[in-house]
Amino acid sequence: MLSHKNIMSILSDRINNLSESATLKMTKLGRELAAKDVNVISLSVGEPDFNTPEHVKEAAKKALDENYTRYSPVPGYPDLRQAIVNKLKTENNLDYDISQIVVSTGAKQSLSNVILTLINPGDEVIIPTPYWVSYSEMVTLAEGKSVFINTSIESDFKITPAQLEAAITPKSKLFMFSSPNNPTGTVYSKDELAALAKVFEKHPNIYILSDEIYEHINFVDKHESIAQFPSIKDRVIIVNGFSKAFAMTGWRLGYIAANKEIAAANDKLQGQTTSGTCSIAQRAGIVAYEQGLDTVNEMKKAFARRRQLVYDLLKDIPGVKTNLPEGAFYFFPEISSFFGKKDADGNVIKNSADLALYLLNVGHVATVGGDSFGNDNYIRLSYAASDESLVEALRRIKEALGKLS
Ligand code: PMP
Ligand code: GLU
Repeated sequence: MLSHKNIMSILSDRINNLSESATLKMTKLGRELAAKDVNVISLSVGEPDFNTPEHVKEAAKKALDENYTRYSPVPGYPDLRQAIVNKLKTENNLDYDISQIVVSTGAKQSLSNVILTLINPGDEVIIPTPYWVSYSEMVTLAEGKSVFINTSIESDFKITPAQLEAAITPKSKLFMFSSPNNPTGTVYSKDELAALAKVFEKHPNIYILSDEIYEHINFVDKHESIAQFPSIKDRVIIVNGFSKAFAMTGWRLGYIAANKEIAAANDKLQGQTTSGTCSIAQRAGIVAYEQGLDTVNEMKKAFARRRQLVYDLLKDIPGVKTNLPEGAFYFFPEISSFFGKKDADGNVIKNSADLALYLLNVGHVATVGGDSFGNDNYIRLSYAASDESLVEALRRIKEALGKLS
């Protein structure tokens, strides 16, 4: 066996400097505990607890029977890209051409492609915190520099145009954010996006990566994309996918909509790394988009009910501060009042990762510490779980937190 030190010297700096994904790590730890017959409730991974709609599964079976089993075009089948173009027009009133769409192995690969396509070593990427765990690590992989704009629960985790302006330097290359946001559920309104767009108008060298994967899980209004402002549309790269809206996390299907040059560059990168994504998933994706949003709207109703349920239960836990998220399926409550407290064995809870581990080991509820989302004073709970599991999970969390002294 190689020692830890030896392994570090063999592996690239790139991988040595990379953190493990905290969402996936906590999910793995939860699964390991569950394998020891512990009844663990997982609120760690962000994925719908619904099955993929029947018509989408049928389309995949048909694709197999029709022998869609060979390499697809690198940026995706033209009819899938056309379905995406149609969706962007009918749902978002945005005009794109299929040459502007690149389909990838999940929105995660789309994000990674875009960053590798645009970022040179030393380029700055502006990221509002809290952000989805992989953003900053993808920037690190590309040898870029993340520049964070901090927000807190008091402003519903939104940045202001003044904060954005202050973060911009001559090295700024990309701004990346998600609305609805993971981990906070924050949704930017049209007016708020317009105000940010005004700032970008003054800085024509900055690109905007708009992660809209939670667009259909929005409890306040219709989805607004920052690509709707003509003055900056050419510099906006929309990332979206099928994982959340169609409960297709395992199918690995995401895409970008961007200007032709950036799309072509992503196509080139993908051609040297993964090629076109799974042919069967792509065929199913066409049917998902063509058949509309009925199943998503059903899911949304369940999420709306659970959001209220979890909100009421969280508000009832002393020391926990929460807001009511406007979208996605997460809560990001403030939990720093527990720092400095001790568990039954005298171990001190020093940070959000300690608290998440404590809740897993003592309360048997898997959550994720806020540190990996860029703010250590919080933890993330996913409420993509049954109502009964949520009630029991919140009971356990309250009990476990009550034992800290
Ligand atoms: N962006 C955000 C904000 C997410 O929460 C996720 C969750 N997986 C992704 C992108 C990636 O989604 P996928 O790769 O499953 O399409
Ligand atoms: N987006 C989900 C989450 O945030 C999936 C896990 C992941 O890919 O990080 O939990």
